[in-house]
Amino acid sequence: MSPPPILLITGAGRGIGAATARRAAAAGWQVAVNYVANEAAAGAVVEDIRRAGGHAAAMQADVSQPEQVAALFDRVARELGPVAGLVNNAGVPGRIGRVEALEPAVLRRTFEVNVYAAFLCAQAFVRRASTKHGGAGGAIVNVSSMASRTGSPGELVHYAAAKAALEAFNYGLASEVATEGIRVNAVACGLIETDIHAEAGDAGRLQRYATRMPMQRAGRPEEVAEAIVWLLSGAASYVTGTVLPVAGGR
Ligand code: NAP
Repeated sequence: MSPPPILLITGAGRGIGAATARRAAAAGWQVAVNYVANEAAAGAVVEDIRRAGGHAAAMQADVSQPEQVAALFDRVARELGPVAGLVNNAGVPGRIGRVEALEPAVLRRTFEVNVYAAFLCAQAFVRRASTKHGGAGGAIVNVSSMASRTGSPGELVHYAAAKAALEAFNYGLASEVATEGIRVNAVACGLIETDIHAEAGDAGRLQRYATRMPMQRAGRPEEVAEAIVWLLSGAASYVTGTVLPVAGGR
């Protein structure tokens, strides 16, 4: 029997990343559960996966930092084996507010984590997995937002702009590596029940906006995880360069 393929999920200790780690492990992936600060949450995800008979390891790194990304990919290779999947999930919303009130440091951090980190991780992944570099191929999923289309005026324009950049990257990279055994896709999430809304400064936002969705409810992280794990799988073998909305009808 061949060993389970190896998947790195950034920001997998909580929210959508954590749900994806559990779902991917159930689908037969061996999962590197990256986190930046919340070691206990990442540890709990790894414990859940192991208790269910799967394979996982928690790995700390700030994926917006080039040296930490290099060390993270080295650690995955050393402790687990050749990486076959990458989910660029780590994201921060910045603070809710109008553009003219946006702090430069918040703007910078929003792009560093939502865009810059995805570039760094994808670079490291392509260097290892592309058939051009002697790798066996693989799949990348970028976690975007429907905000890239709405622009999120009055609230999160910086975040929406970062996710739009991520989607342009998604399309461009997919074309660049399409003949090298690597597929690159994205999911565009709608309102999903995670800590990110409180982090943006308005936990009540989720319930306020949920009823405006065609399905009139927020989504669960597990519902996004299903789409991500499908895009990673061989079942999506002719799908690349797409952005799949998981947004209750938006
Ligand atoms: P969340 O619950 O706040 O979790 C964010 C995760 O990202 C945490 O595990 C956090 O690590 C990690 N993280 C943050 N900065 C990092 C860094 N520099 N390096 C490594 N990990 C980092 O958020 P979520 O809602 O699940 O969001 C996941 C993705 O979905 C994000 O890209 C977000 O933009 C996108 N999204 C979410 C929604 C929504 O409604 N929830 C909608 C659209 C798009 P620690 O646990 O260590 O802090």
